[in-house]
Amino acid sequence: MSEALPLDQRPVTSLRGVGPAVAETLGRLGLRTVQDVLFHLPLRYEDRTRVVPIGTLRPGDRAVVEGEIQLVEVVFRRRRALLCRVADGSGFLTLRFFHFSAAQQETLVRGTRLRCFGEARMGPGGLEIVHPEYRKIGPGAAADGTLTPVYPTTEGVQQGRLRQLTSLALAELDPDALRDWLTPEVLGTAGLPSLDAALRYVHRPPNDADIAALDEGRHPAQRRLAFEELLAHHLSLRLLRLAADRDDAWPLPRGSDLVERCLSRLPFQLTRAQRRAWDEIAADLERPHPMMRLVQGDVGSGKTVVAALAALRAVEHGAQTAVMAPTELLAEQHARNFLGWLEPLGVRVGLLTGRLTGRARAAARVDLASGAIQVAVGTHALFQEDVEFARLGLVIVDEQHRFGVHQRMRLREKGREGARYPHQLVMTATPIPRTLAMTAYADLDVSVIDELPPGRTPVRTVVLPETRRDEVVARIEGACRAGRQAYWVCPLIDESEIVRHQAAEETAAALAAALPGVRIGLVHGRMPARRKDDVMNAFKAGTLDLLVATTVIEVGVDVPNASLMIVENAERMGLAQLHQLRGRVGRGSVESTCVLLYAPPLTPIARERLAVLRDTNDGFLVARRDLELRGAGELLGTRQTGLMQLRVADIVRDADLLPRVQRAAELMLAGSRENIAPLLRRWIGEGERFGKV
Ligand code: ADP
Ligand code: MG
Repeated sequence: MSEALPLDQRPVTSLRGVGPAVAETLGRLGLRTVQDVLFHLPLRYEDRTRVVPIGTLRPGDRAVVEGEIQLVEVVFRRRRALLCRVADGSGFLTLRFFHFSAAQQETLVRGTRLRCFGEARMGPGGLEIVHPEYRKIGPGAAADGTLTPVYPTTEGVQQGRLRQLTSLALAELDPDALRDWLTPEVLGTAGLPSLDAALRYVHRPPNDADIAALDEGRHPAQRRLAFEELLAHHLSLRLLRLAADRDDAWPLPRGSDLVERCLSRLPFQLTRAQRRAWDEIAADLERPHPMMRLVQGDVGSGKTVVAALAALRAVEHGAQTAVMAPTELLAEQHARNFLGWLEPLGVRVGLLTGRLTGRARAAARVDLASGAIQVAVGTHALFQEDVEFARLGLVIVDEQHRFGVHQRMRLREKGREGARYPHQLVMTATPIPRTLAMTAYADLDVSVIDELPPGRTPVRTVVLPETRRDEVVARIEGACRAGRQAYWVCPLIDESEIVRHQAAEETAAALAAALPGVRIGLVHGRMPARRKDDVMNAFKAGTLDLLVATTVIEVGVDVPNASLMIVENAERMGLAQLHQLRGRVGRGSVESTCVLLYAPPLTPIARERLAVLRDTNDGFLVARRDLELRGAGELLGTRQTGLMQLRVADIVRDADLLPRVQRAAELMLAGSRENIAPLLRRWIGEGERFGKV
């Protein structure tokens, strides 16, 4: 009966040997259907096709050996262990098991032939393999005919089990049971194999397969799957956009002179690039469909003021704006900026972050719901369930790479009124190359602010070993004596927030001892909010000279008088992150310096990465080099956000596929639209799908 169902509807329990308990553990790997099992692809491969004589084995070798059991014993030294000695005539080897069942012990009897795989190491009694993979074999058993896949796994699921399951699933694979949603036309003439052939190949590559190409994910079989995955993601964003283009929004044409009044009060003129971005935004806002626009602009290019103009346009029509920032620090700073620009014009700005509680929060909620707050600045606290807006006309998301598409979608839903949706403006300081942007942000139009405000002196970046710390400390003293301010950013040496803030505290104490004349403040993520505010405000007001901080100050913080930035352990940070940090200085007219301290010795790659920052201030260039040196996940922030959680594809490695992905998407939207929904289900899943099909 179940045989007739397509593989995406056959539960894993339809495979032999999978009961409810196994199904539950498989569920933790996201494997619920037979199709899921087929799309659970190997991480790497091992060549176990050659059986190695035990006598030639060296410690550290990962190899297959065969031999006959000579001796089995359970020993109690420090830990109980089952030892099993096997010999093949060329030498002998001990298999050591710390965990073993009685059943296992019973099968390991003298005289049995085993084929084992594992890493040889030197043990107390000669070479041994701890917890080898093994199976009983008969005499003259053939060697493996295919490379051995190694699958991503989880507690309680053995590699052997995954191999067995994929074998069973492959046996059920045929083009009727697993439809290829890419028509020959869509797939094009690129020489990519059929889905069926690709899956068979990646799960069981023949023993003469190019293992290096496979390990790098460059084999045509893998590229075929990567292509399909990228296409699915691209299509989901395209659909999202097509749906949005059918949605209604309040048109926001020029309603009064608020924008002009704001512009005339600014202490500066917009740059040409800011003006262009604003014109594009203003044109979008006039339309009766929601704007979906990304503003890309390097750190310090002045995105915030452009966003403020958009907010004013909403105010001109009695619509509210929500401005969402990724950190409380940044939200507070935006709130201050917006207050400075908008309140003189009679516009009410409110702040709503996670730290706002009790009565203050209740009051803010009331004012949002009544529309008294016209521009609400905050963190993701803005789209919590109990927060309601009177009429949300515009959603602005700053540092969008910190959020996922899903969060943006939720804010959008928040502002929904019948068929009306708010306009969306998202901003990022992480510039990415065009083809990449067209895929990762396929739902957005893009404006680029490719010009810094005039009068900025480029930041000078120096790369120094930690051994020259004293010189750096002396430099801080000089800068502070000259009336300027400095940041000292502490290393991200550990994932744990506790270790990080301890490091910051110790650094602050050491610097205080070394620099008695310098007023030092400390901020880190674990500090009480009030303290953090006080310190930040004191630094902004210039009553502190040196701010020691964790990377909490990474995004957005704007103190123009700060002209020196020191980053410790720079070799461990991403280029995009360092560029962001560096963007905290160079905001005034004095020449600023960024010192990247590293702990020697540097790896060649790390050296090259730091050199990129030393040699350029151009965020686009940094991003491009970052891509080449490291991969896109970090750059796009996908690791934090799940913006594009790719299973097979790697947006950098497979970048050459992207133009074809875009063409294929057009073809599917035009000619095989009915194939899109199942394709998205296959790759993106129900829960995560954001585009309507
Ligand atoms: P980012 O694009 O990194 O978010 P901000 O919006 O924080 O940059 O702007 C950086 C600084 O430049 C702020 O102090 C802002 O007031 C100032 N600024 C913005 N536009 C201009 C301009 N056209 N001329 C001079 N200064 C500007
Ligand atoms: Mg900013």
